[in-house]
Amino acid sequence: MLNIIIAGPPGSGKGTLAKLMIEKFGFVHLSTGDMLRREIGLGSPLGKEVESILAKGDLVSDQIVISLISNSLKANPGARGFLFDGFPRTLTQAKVLDDFLKKTGHPLKLMILLKVDDAVCEMRLLRRGGIENRPDDTDSEKIRHRLATYYAQTVPVIDHYKKQGKFVSVDNSKDPEHTLNQVSKCLKPIL
Ligand code: ADP
Repeated sequence: MLNIIIAGPPGSGKGTLAKLMIEKFGFVHLSTGDMLRREIGLGSPLGKEVESILAKGDLVSDQIVISLISNSLKANPGARGFLFDGFPRTLTQAKVLDDFLKKTGHPLKLMILLKVDDAVCEMRLLRRGGIENRPDDTDSEKIRHRLATYYAQTVPVIDHYKKQGKFVSVDNSKDPEHTLNQVSKCLKPIL
C-alpha cells in the first residue's frame, strides 16, 4: 500500500492532479474539502456546522477532519494506496495521520508539493469561483486569507515531511499533464 499526500496552496491544482493520478495509478482519493462540501450539500448536521467556516475560508477543526479521514480509511481496507488531498493541513493533523498509518504498517511514503505563485493561485480561484459557485472562491480578500492560513498552518506540515526526507516539489503553474509526467517519474522507483 502506498500512501501519498498532495500539498500546495489553495488554487495550486491539488484536486486536478489527484484526479489524473487516480486514473493512472488507481489510488483512493481522500479530499477533506470534497468530504466537507458533500456534507454541506446533504444538509447534514456536520454540513450545517461547517458551512459558514468554509464560506469564510477558515479551517475546520482538527477533530472534524480527523474523524472524516479516519472513517474513510476504515471504509477502504483493501486500497492500493491513499492519496491525501488537502489533508493534513495542520501539524496536529499530520501527527495523527503519521500515527495512524504507522499502525497499519504502511507509513506515509511521500508528500508532493505543488509549486504555484500566489498571484496565479488567486487568478485560478477567482475563475473557479465563477464556474463552480464556490463561496470561498468569490473574492480576493477571502482568497488572500486562505493563502495566509496556508502559510501559517500548513507550511509547518511541509517542513515536518521535509525533515523526514519524504518530500518532492513540482512546478504546477502550467499544464497538469506535464506535472503528472514529473510526478510519475518520482513515483516510478517506489511503485
Ligand atoms: P483549497 O485547497 O482550494 O482551499 P479544499 O477543497 O482543499 O480547497 O478546502 C476547502 C476548505 O475546506 C478549506 O478552506 C477549509 O475550510 C476546509 N478544509 C479542507 N480540508 C481541511 C483540513 N484538512 N483541515 C481543516 N479544514 C479543511
